[in-house]
Amino acid sequence: MDCLFCQIAAGKISAQQVYSDDVMMAFKDIQPQAAVHLLLIPRQHIRSLNDLRPEDAPLLSHMMQTLPKIAAQQGLTDGYRTIINTEQGGGQIIFHLHIHLLGGSNLPGFH
Ligand code: 5GP
Ligand code: ZN
Repeated sequence: MDCLFCQIAAGKISAQQVYSDDVMMAFKDIQPQAAVHLLLIPRQHIRSLNDLRPEDAPLLSHMMQTLPKIAAQQGLTDGYRTIINTEQGGGQIIFHLHIHLLGGSNLPGFH
């Protein structure tokens, strides 16, 4: 499949990885919008939130519970922002589900 984030998950395209396990990974956004700007992705291809199935619940729960640990590792001790863009109307550009994790200086507002 011609999916950028699947290729990053497979190690075929390099990324600045900060976390990895059997089902997910986190890496630095190539065009950071804040001092810390990471993307958290499931290893399996899920197009967007609209494509979640009931059986994806454990994966999503795992990602949401791992996210604060990654934030802490990045030194985001006083909080952070999470964003999920969904489909064209939500500004999604890469159609592989991802959670933006932003924090530190230059935290952007909503656009
Ligand atoms: P979206 O608008 O789909 O929610 O966000 C996609 C994000 O992926 C953007 O913030 C963009 O900067 C990031 N991005 C696009 N291509 C690459 C890439 O090749 N490597 C990394 N690390 N991030 C990318
Ligand atoms: Zn994919």
